Amino acid sequence: MKIGVLALQGSFLEHQVMLQRLGVDSVQVRLPQQLDALDGLIIPGGESTTIGKLAVDFGLLEPLRQFGKEHAMWGTCAGSIFLSKDAHREQPLLGLMDIQVERNAFGRQVDSFEIDLEIPALKTVSAETPIFHSIFIRAPLIESVGKDVETLVALPNGKIVAARQGHLLATSFHPELTEDARFHRYFLEVVS
Ligand code: GLN
Repeated sequence: MKIGVLALQGSFLEHQVMLQRLGVDSVQVRLPQQLDALDGLIIPGGESTTIGKLAVDFGLLEPLRQFGKEHAMWGTCAGSIFLSKDAHREQPLLGLMDIQVERNAFGRQVDSFEIDLEIPALKTVSAETPIFHSIFIRAPLIESVGKDVETLVALPNGKIVAARQGHLLATSFHPELTEDARFHRYFLEVVS
């Protein structure tokens, strides 16, 4: 299995380290032809406006859209915004996932937080209690989801922070910044 990590900006190295720990080869994707022969792609956290702008500059927008029609993709934080159909602002989006996001929904950098969330879907990859330590850094909320989108977890106040639409995954938080590889394993399961 070969996984790409979009390496325009943000936490792509952290995703690669996690994949390496799981024994999976990954490649840094900056150009359209690097999508060839990949089984799935991770879009890291960072700054969605920057990722979008660079994707346009590197001619990646359309190739990524085509890739995402048939291959698994997972966006973490800024990556989830980039995957979405609507972020309430003029910025380049892939528009692949039928989710509407609210950027910076929790406030500024200083309002970043960590919380343990129960994510039942993780039971498919591990017999452990599916509590996942979730790190939110100037994170978006998934405000609303289309009818084909499954909510994977919401905060205690009911706000959605992880969702799946078939082979597409979005998390508002950053599993790549933890030591816990279960979410990456879950993605690899989606890929295969
Ligand atoms: N605030 C960023 C954005 O709107 C996302 C932050 C992150 O990826 N940690 O793009």
